[in-house]
Amino acid sequence: MNQLRTSGEPILKARGLCKTFGGIKAVKDISFDLMPGEILGLIGPNGAGKTTCFNLITGFYEPSAGSVFYQGKDVTGQKPFTVAQQGIVRSFQKTNILKGLSVFENVLTGHYLEARQSLFDTFFPRAHVRKTEKAVRDSAASIIETMGLSRRMNAPAYLLSCGELRLLEVAVALAAKPKVLMLDEPAAGLNSQEAQNFGTVLKQLRQEHVQSILIVEHNMGLVMKTCDRIVVMNFGEKLAEGTPAEIQSNRQVIEAYLGKAAA
Ligand code: ATP
Repeated sequence: MNQLRTSGEPILKARGLCKTFGGIKAVKDISFDLMPGEILGLIGPNGAGKTTCFNLITGFYEPSAGSVFYQGKDVTGQKPFTVAQQGIVRSFQKTNILKGLSVFENVLTGHYLEARQSLFDTFFPRAHVRKTEKAVRDSAASIIETMGLSRRMNAPAYLLSCGELRLLEVAVALAAKPKVLMLDEPAAGLNSQEAQNFGTVLKQLRQEHVQSILIVEHNMGLVMKTCDRIVVMNFGEKLAEGTPAEIQSNRQVIEAYLGKAAA
């Protein structure tokens, strides 16, 4: 659907982002661009400030300083719902899957942006509401197929394997029709084969369903194989930025992950 295009104007720009919690400087002057068609990895040791960056971009936290631009527009400090409505949709480290609901029902809940209706329409649905309902159900089925979960469509989420659950989390995020998909540790708990499959799915999504993906992930195999570029954070600061090959051979990055002795 989308043309793979990693040049032109950035779809998302972070400029000088800072966040302080009491005495803790969690994010210090972080700037980066996310290009259309790009999968950008945001990595760093525990506590480096990656999730805080996600929260700043998606409006869950207001920055202490700095700005976020989306499609050229300043969206700094906008509320999460408004940010999502414009096309920046995120997943969370803690799953938001409702375990008692089926795969299909979970993906329906992700359509909250387009499926809002009045109380009157809930009890006396008019033609346009019935049409929207059908569109939403068709969209849910199509997303489930994209994520390779058709076989599990009617299974309750509590029966899914860890790998299937991770795919369902992405499916729920996709239901909000993102242009920028932001995934916070989406491969947590996956074995290496599952992580590899997951990376393949992300690349397909980037080509066919979303313009760009920003991913926070500790699974280095997945990050190095899937991301076009990587931003490395350490102690709230940007330590390095580059292609997977550049990052893998960057001495400061190796030190940050493994300690000085290893570098
Ligand atoms: P991880 O890989 O472990 O998820 P991270 O890189 O995502 O870590 P953050 O969760 O952004 O790191 O945390 C960065 C720093 O900010 C940490 O020192 C953390 O304790 C602190 N922090 C994050 N959120 C808050 C908060 N709401 N209140 C106080 N401190 C916070």
